Amino acid sequence: MKIAAALTLLGAMFAAPAALAQAGPDVELWRLDCGDFQVSDFAEFSDTHRYDGKPYALVDSCYLIRHGSDYLLWDTGISGDVLGKKVVDGAFTLTLKARVVSQLAQIGVKPTQIARVGISHYHDDHTGQLGDFAHATLLIGAGDFAAIKAGSASRPNWATLFKPWIDGTAKVDAVAGDKDVFGDGSVEMLGMPGHTPGHHSLLVRLRSGPVLLSGDQFHATESFAHDQVPTFNTDRADTLASIDRFKQIATNLKAKVVIQHEPADVAKLPAFPKSIR
Ligand SMILES: [Zn+2]
Repeated sequence: MKIAAALTLLGAMFAAPAALAQAGPDVELWRLDCGDFQVSDFAEFSDTHRYDGKPYALVDSCYLIRHGSDYLLWDTGISGDVLGKKVVDGAFTLTLKARVVSQLAQIGVKPTQIARVGISHYHDDHTGQLGDFAHATLLIGAGDFAAIKAGSASRPNWATLFKPWIDGTAKVDAVAGDKDVFGDGSVEMLGMPGHTPGHHSLLVRLRSGPVLLSGDQFHATESFAHDQVPTFNTDRADTLASIDRFKQIATNLKAKVVIQHEPADVAKLPAFPKSIR
């Protein structure tokens, strides 16, 4: 074979995966604004005293994923009660510009069209507006759902917040390990325990390339760069193992990493109502 012909063949071989990607499922991603946090002392985000006394500005983000005509909402932000207020909770000052349902209305999506709500973990800043989707199937880490059902003295709101899924009015998919949400590999919950027992990140394979949504595997660019473990994580060793897995997946897939609370990272995705495919 002549060199030119060999190069043409090689070119065709490398072009093929891109052509296949073009023919993949129709997946679209929107980033929703689910609140802002001013943290006056970031100390509890490191169990090695890296952030003692330092302030940090975080955002709260949620994500709408359309797969054909099906929708998955990933995380539900801080409580809708915060709308129009400035709520101080310890080192945190919370604000919320718009509820999830009103952002969905802007793009003509009704809450009842959201058949699946996936939450990265059970913390309040990811479950605040879950009540607006009480009809949906809840996709949640099995470890987190077990903790919710067992109840917690420090989280008395769980019984009310998760009532439809605890009493069986609405369906629950308690995910152990990974979960291929639509059965075609396009959207996958990745088991990343440690922040909470059933914490998950979300991989979304768009035609433009894969996006890896962190959940709270990391809270900030700084904590990603230095593998920091918050003091309030449920398991330090699991967290470190999940950090290792997350970073290897991101590298191997050349994924766009979006740390959900990091202002610099959410800006990697278009501002709502723009989407990415
Ligand atoms: Zn969070």
